Amino acid sequence: MNKKENILIIGAGLCGSLLALRLGQRGYTVKLVEKRPDLRKVEQDAGRSINLAFSDRGMKGMRMVGLGEEVKKLCLPMLGRMIHNTKGNKFMSPYSGKKEKFINSISRPGLNMILLDAADKLPNVTLIFNQSCEHVDLENTKATFIHYHTKEEIIHTADIIFGTDGAGSVLRNNMFIDKDLRLSFSIDWLTHSYKELTIPASENGGFKTDNNALHIWPRGENMLIALPNLDGSFTVTLFLAHETGADNFQKLNTPEKVTEYFEREYPDAKALMPNLVKEFFENPTGTLGTVKCYPWSTFGKTLIMGDAAHAIVPFYGQGMIASFEDVVVLDKYIEKFEGDLESGQTNWETIFSEYQKERKKDTDAIADLAIDNFSEMKEHTANPLFQQKRKLEIAFEENFPERYNSKYSLVTFNEDIPYSVAMRRGRAQDKAILNLLDDGKLVDSMSLEEKLILVLNETKEILHDDDIAKNL
Ligand SMILES: Cc1cc2nc3c(=O)[nH]c(=O)nc-3n(C[C@H](O)[C@H](O)[C@H](O)COP(=O)(O)OP(=O)(O)OC[C@H]3O[C@@H](n4cnc5c(N)ncnc54)[C@H](O)[C@@H]3O)c2cc1C
Repeated sequence: MNKKENILIIGAGLCGSLLALRLGQRGYTVKLVEKRPDLRKVEQDAGRSINLAFSDRGMKGMRMVGLGEEVKKLCLPMLGRMIHNTKGNKFMSPYSGKKEKFINSISRPGLNMILLDAADKLPNVTLIFNQSCEHVDLENTKATFIHYHTKEEIIHTADIIFGTDGAGSVLRNNMFIDKDLRLSFSIDWLTHSYKELTIPASENGGFKTDNNALHIWPRGENMLIALPNLDGSFTVTLFLAHETGADNFQKLNTPEKVTEYFEREYPDAKALMPNLVKEFFENPTGTLGTVKCYPWSTFGKTLIMGDAAHAIVPFYGQGMIASFEDVVVLDKYIEKFEGDLESGQTNWETIFSEYQKERKKDTDAIADLAIDNFSEMKEHTANPLFQQKRKLEIAFEENFPERYNSKYSLVTFNEDIPYSVAMRRGRAQDKAILNLLDDGKLVDSMSLEEKLILVLNETKEILHDDDIAKNL
């Protein structure tokens, strides 16, 4: 297969690397250009989200490119949330009542590396590092880069350009400043920022606390989480208000204040973090926000994907997964509209148009769900009504696996259910259970099946009411 189009991909993060590999496998001539050095050859920056939650939905992309088995070697299963309350007690809240359903902790650079390695092996894919894109001429598919070391200007031209250059995308900014393109764009900054810290491995290289869970210290306004790494350490992330509330990043400006805050709010975690204060002041404070924009394509020749098109807050652990899913959905349309293999002409305009039409509602949905989950993690996980709901849902999933999936399961474990469908159904279920619990209608004398039937009927009514309101 000798395809005519030359493809330029800007940004070799998780989305760009998977895209380059897939397009390379499809026979296109691909140039993948990244502003940072090759992460396979340099030490990683401290404090840049070293591990990520990775679930079934993300496996779809890895299986598509034949790396399904390879990626498993990087995965550490997390069976549920280990909640650490203010009294220093902890309890496990499983992600699902179905035993085979769990999420994984995975190394971000590790995952990026296996994608880059696989892309690098293809003769039709070229990887270029240390070149930062400064400008894209969208109509003429010409992009200007500056070499990090030499400061020399380099122009890459292509038939098709993809922008997978993350939340601050240069390609997207070029779309935005051309008013004729009418790019609708919004960024909603979260009031909270984040800081990454570490629980190091114990002296014998083991884990200092349970390694089969995602740890959460919910504290109402703020929270701490920790995900295990293969080397026995945990990456800890503090999500703290930037400048509002009783505690915030602005106020934690001396070692004494940091120490006092952690001793007061997270004493058990603090005891496991010998380098807390040093890391707190050395590691960067990251901002969080939701980027929504549309359209994603210009002139049938460029397309933004991943965080460049839809950056979301990290509380559902789905940002990278959604970016991988972008590549899977795009691939489906390439397969459909690749056109005449003899002439090598691919109908990109139709592919991009169909892709963005299908995908926008789903990425909007996961963006909204991720905001919902922020409240769920920092406040609701410690709330008795929420805990009662989760207990019931786990029992439903355990005993009636074919008849019930919680919102979390619909989003995380049901890769064939689009995010928008998972959101609608999941929210209706949540409302149904919480209403029934609050009204005292789910009584102990009922069997579990009777409770399930009541919840399903209530959900149906809520969905029906939603439909009526929507069609007014
Ligand atoms: C704290 C935190 C925790 C997270 N946890 C999770 C999680 O648990 N699970 C999950 O699924 N997602 C998580 N995410 C989201 C996830 O990190 C992103 O959704 C994912 O990285 C998006 O991939 P991407 O390739 O689109 O963008 P990025 O990973 O940002 O990659 C963009 C790439 O483009 C390069 N680049 C940028 N500008 C230029 C330029 N001008 N020229 C050339 N190259 C450029 C960058 O250097 C980078 O390599 C988290 C995010 C944060 C901030």
